Amino acid sequence: MRWQHAETPPARSAASMALLDLPPLREALADHDLLADKRFGQHFLLDLNVTRKIARIAGPLEQCVVIEVGPGPGGLTRALLDEGAAHVIAIEKDKRFIPLLTELAEAADGRLTVIEGDALKADEAALATALAPGLTPKIVANLPYNVGTALLVRWLTGAFTPASMTLMFQKEVAERIAATAGAEAYGRLSVLAQALAETRVAMTLPARAFTPPPRVDSAVAFLQPRADRPPPAIIAALEKVTAAAFGQRRKMLRSSLKTLGGEALCARAGIDPNARAETIDIAGFLRLAGASLDSENR
Ligand code: SAM
Repeated sequence: MRWQHAETPPARSAASMALLDLPPLREALADHDLLADKRFGQHFLLDLNVTRKIARIAGPLEQCVVIEVGPGPGGLTRALLDEGAAHVIAIEKDKRFIPLLTELAEAADGRLTVIEGDALKADEAALATALAPGLTPKIVANLPYNVGTALLVRWLTGAFTPASMTLMFQKEVAERIAATAGAEAYGRLSVLAQALAETRVAMTLPARAFTPPPRVDSAVAFLQPRADRPPPAIIAALEKVTAAAFGQRRKMLRSSLKTLGGEALCARAGIDPNARAETIDIAGFLRLAGASLDSENR
């Protein structure tokens, strides 16, 4: 794919606008004739008090490069810059927003780089190193609903590990991320998120906070990848074990994990083979992942 950088001048010229002089977001949208497009999961936050609260959840940003997926009209982007982010890299798939975002970049004294592209294909580590070397990477985003979970799983399990992730999801997805064993919402996403990160739901927002309002309420999940993350082989095994176990969540593990070793695998991990996935805690899944590697190596 071809990345397109919207040019950011190194320093603001006297004639260009400062962040404080930018028009209100509704006006900026009207000026650029922009309406939300459902295909891109567009539900905008146009109240800067709300976007500032979200930016603050991410903690101090002065030493950080923030990667934002889907800046849209730039409400959260403005808040991240207002809150002192050293640099923001904003990746937007809908090219209609690039001119408006370029205006924002021009007002941001070289602290904002806008990239037109698909975040699913982005190489965040390469972008952060090239555009903001030496800064601590954090991810902050009001994610498009259709790709939010896929992006989170990639950021949790992949080679690029941000210092933290502050992510707006549908409320139900945020609850799944933080659910514990035995809860109805507990599933594959809960296990991957909590095995690899400290996780909490930091804020909930009613549907009416967005323009246009989605059908459901939303919530911000805050995730801090663990310093003692398991090695890549265990993470890959955990992905396999959780996919099999929760793929057939009503079945006993002896049956849902059959292709990975079934009863013998459970025995090696010290797990009851008659139990169902939803009752196994994070430590239990990590033991299953480890045991599945042992059996691969036999
Ligand atoms: N951040 C803005 C806000 O809070 O008002 C917009 C959030 S809206 C829920 C999601 C944004 O992600 C939209 O601007 C949409 O165009 C963009 N988007 C959707 N899919 C994307 C993808 N694969 N890569 C990058 N941006 C994407």
